[in-house]
Amino acid sequence: MSKSLNATMPKSNFFGDVCEFFDHAAQFTKHPEGLLDQIKACNSVYRFRFPIRKGNGLEVIDAYRVEHSHHKTPTKGGIRYSDMVNEDEVMALAALMTYKCAIVNVPFGGAKGGIKISPQNYTVAELENITRRYTVELIKKNFIGPGIDVPAPDYGSGEREMSWIADTYQTMNPGQLDALGCVTGKPIALSGIAGRKEATGRGVAIAIRECVDVAEDMQTLGFTTGLSGKKVIVQGLGNVGYHSVKYLSEFGAIIVGLCEFEGAIFNADGLDLEQVMAHRKTTGSILGYAGAKREFENPAEGLEQPCDILVPAALENQITEYNIGQIKAKIIAEAANGPTTPAAAAIFIDRGGIIIPDMYCNAGGVTVSYFEWLKNLSHVAFGRMDKRYEENVNLNIVNMVESSTGVKLSSAQRSAIVKGATELELVNSGLEDTMIRSYHEIREIKAHNPKIDSLRTAAFVSSIDKVAVSYMNMGIWP
Ligand code: NAD
Repeated sequence: MSKSLNATMPKSNFFGDVCEFFDHAAQFTKHPEGLLDQIKACNSVYRFRFPIRKGNGLEVIDAYRVEHSHHKTPTKGGIRYSDMVNEDEVMALAALMTYKCAIVNVPFGGAKGGIKISPQNYTVAELENITRRYTVELIKKNFIGPGIDVPAPDYGSGEREMSWIADTYQTMNPGQLDALGCVTGKPIALSGIAGRKEATGRGVAIAIRECVDVAEDMQTLGFTTGLSGKKVIVQGLGNVGYHSVKYLSEFGAIIVGLCEFEGAIFNADGLDLEQVMAHRKTTGSILGYAGAKREFENPAEGLEQPCDILVPAALENQITEYNIGQIKAKIIAEAANGPTTPAAAAIFIDRGGIIIPDMYCNAGGVTVSYFEWLKNLSHVAFGRMDKRYEENVNLNIVNMVESSTGVKLSSAQRSAIVKGATELELVNSGLEDTMIRSYHEIREIKAHNPKIDSLRTAAFVSSIDKVAVSYMNMGIWP
């Protein structure tokens, strides 16, 4: 049994870890050292402080925005609200955004923001003040804008914070037609897009489904193909974790373990997500849930219980050389950014496990953010122009088939065929296609080079090549 990770683990060197993965993969590319250095470096690191009124006094808030790469603009990446935020972390997260966007062919450079606060220690009015002031500081330094740098939600932030950012930016840029494209993850009523909130978790579930559908890879793990009956443990029940569990359950997986801040619960026969959430809402904890067979006050112990697939969906530095020996899962699907350290990843891969790497696994969020940004720039919802047209065309086809064959469809069959696509259906279709295609792209890179040891290395090779091509097309490298 390992002790509480957050309490005992050495301080993470997150940007160093990302660079270590990068350097390992770079040996499988043919780019000159200078170009690789340019791709790896964080271009702009903005660290700032501002005061807010709290109670009867003032408090100084530490904040960051890092733009890792401008090989494509705007840059893109979420804003983290956490008292653990620091420069190293924001740099690492920004770098991962560059590689992530490249893997899923989203035309953005990578960026990330951070505000060093624990949101639960502030009132809603104080959080609004902090968010609006943070936005103003970004505007002053040209670190935000629909063609410059476009934030999104991350750990500790969501639709509410994005709507404050959009409103502040719009207020400071009156008449700017594309102003609402300055941030994604907004509520639908403020030009957000259907399906964004659940996109990262949905993408995680699709990524896992793709992985377990490859017979050759499952044989090496001693698994049958398919998600049906696979036992899963998920760490973190926030936006990404909750939606990962929801869609994995829909795809047939059995959720046997859930870990949150306050502890972990386990039942080899399965846990009911909605019941656990309802219990947590009433009692403030997942512990004490009647459907659990075992529970652990130390959440780290939850990761070590028997399962097929482990989905860390909380924070970085959770699976390290100190606890990898106790992890029973054969597949780690990195829903969070940076949950596995390079040392732990090497041990896990050596013993034959598969890691679905963060930079691909959680890319569903930025994919749908891209769709939201496109919607904001075009000022029209997806499906608005063609839904009715599509339905009329389909109706004519159904009528013709019915009259020429004599077959009569039921009204349910008719409406299923005739119906035009809604915005949500189009978004989910684009997300699913992106996740499926990208998985096979990186798997193929690995399959074609036996020296490439992992999907992460293959994913880095793919993204390094794509970013390098952008630099070459800019005429920066011969
Ligand atoms: P969130 O704030 O909605 O939820 C995170 C959850 O993790 C919280 O419920 C928190 O209590 C829990 N948690 C924290 N430490 C824990 C621990 N040691 N053990 C168990 N639970 C713990 O955040 P989120 O948006 O779901 O982000 C989670 C991860 O996913 C982060 O690494 C983030 O960078 C990454 N991510 C998020 C998005 C997105 O669209 N929100 C996109 C890509 C990647």
